Amino acid sequence: MIILKSPQEIEKIRASCRIVAEALQLLEKAVEPGITTLELNDIAERYLKERGAAPAFKGYRGFPMSLCASINEEVVHGIPSAQRKLREGDVISLDLGSLYEGYYGDAAITVGVGEIPEVARKLLEVTRASLECGLQQVRENNCLSDISHAIQTAVEKEGFSVVRIFVGHGIGASLHEEPQIPNFGPPGRGPRLKEGMVLAVEPMVNVGTSDVRILDDKWTVVTQDGSLSAHFEHTVAVAKNGCDVLSRFN
Ligand code: MG
Repeated sequence: MIILKSPQEIEKIRASCRIVAEALQLLEKAVEPGITTLELNDIAERYLKERGAAPAFKGYRGFPMSLCASINEEVVHGIPSAQRKLREGDVISLDLGSLYEGYYGDAAITVGVGEIPEVARKLLEVTRASLECGLQQVRENNCLSDISHAIQTAVEKEGFSVVRIFVGHGIGASLHEEPQIPNFGPPGRGPRLKEGMVLAVEPMVNVGTSDVRILDDKWTVVTQDGSLSAHFEHTVAVAKNGCDVLSRFN
């Protein structure tokens, strides 16, 4: 069942998303050669706590940290570690969730470390753009899979591939609610979008094959062929006149 949110609930989700967005801005500034993913985790966790929010991922199904930090061929769910130092030319996906006054916010960005190769720059641009293409389909009476199809089309026309086995999700008083939101598929399928639906849309895009595998740590998802991967995510509400991006702030 897809839980529709009242305007008051949507404002609470926006408040939670704001904390995530601000933390991601801090992290983006902190990313530089030599910093460890554990240090990034601690920056995020400290900021959430300062703002009175709890890290949503810490302890979720046993995930040990607050931030998912996934470098290069790592797709999602990388575990921050004092052993993982960023190097010039890396790309790192930073995925963060907060729980604030009973509501979740979820967003992710991928950023380059210093100067990055041309293919990495293009991957980041295409992945970010594919998320925007998906969000353009968020409006009342569109079908859920119109979002999926727009993302897939934007990615594949640039020669990259969309990860299939991880998907976006509804969000609200729980971190993961119905519906699941694949980043691929034909348009015109699935439930109609309705005002009050709140969705976390999150394309994961690989330079090479769409196949992925999970490392022995039981969390870190990597591309099967070792190619680079990127990930962007926004939490959005279906509004009267289109898409209200709850996790976007200037
Ligand atoms: Mg998510």
